[in-house]
Amino acid sequence: MNPAKRLEIFTRFRTANPKPTTELEFTTPFELLIAVLLSAQSTDVGVNKATRKLYPVANTPQAILDLGLDELKSYIATIGLYNTKAANVMATCRILVEQHGGEVPRSREALEALPGVGRKTANVVLNTAFGEPTMAVDTHIFRVSNRTKIAPGKNVDIVEQKLLKFVPKDFMIDAHHWLILHGRYTCVARKPKCWNCLIADLCEFKDKTPAPPGTLDPKVEALEAAGLK
Ligand code: SF4
Repeated sequence: MNPAKRLEIFTRFRTANPKPTTELEFTTPFELLIAVLLSAQSTDVGVNKATRKLYPVANTPQAILDLGLDELKSYIATIGLYNTKAANVMATCRILVEQHGGEVPRSREALEALPGVGRKTANVVLNTAFGEPTMAVDTHIFRVSNRTKIAPGKNVDIVEQKLLKFVPKDFMIDAHHWLILHGRYTCVARKPKCWNCLIADLCEFKDKTPAPPGTLDPKVEALEAAGLK
């Protein structure tokens, strides 16, 4: 894919959604860190349901330590792998209190040293809590980058490096949110909604999904809704 196409793709993403962010609910870097840690192989909706009850009771490392493991589990029991995640949250909180004054560190090395925090989680926290131009490649970003050819690669590390190299600078901070949202709602795994995709003319995916029978062209639909057709 050439740079002009990439520029146009991200320009359209920005026009459609000028301030994208994560769908995980948080108000502090710590709340975001714990939400991302809980979200591995789980949905953001499920995590939000749990943290909406947990955070009013405990939203600092010390408060979660004071809560204790069993009590913490009772708040997150609806989330997959909650036993392991609860143990990681407790261990992470202990390190934050003992080594970081109860704060979330702003360095990749310190973040990745926390139990349950891998490169992807560190990237999300660095980007979304601290505004660093990192690229957290999840399953959605991996799929969209490969299908469109914005940044094709056989594994997430290659895609991450290519995105960091190829995404136009002005768009770097928000790029990962746009790509995730695009993958979650339009360029979905099984049958991408190519007929209703705002970058379909720029995307280089060969097997685009045709519009299902009876589906109106979205532009025609918009005109009809406005009473202009
Ligand atoms: S045209 Fe289809 S494959 Fe390409 S980005 Fe849009 S939904 Fe994905």
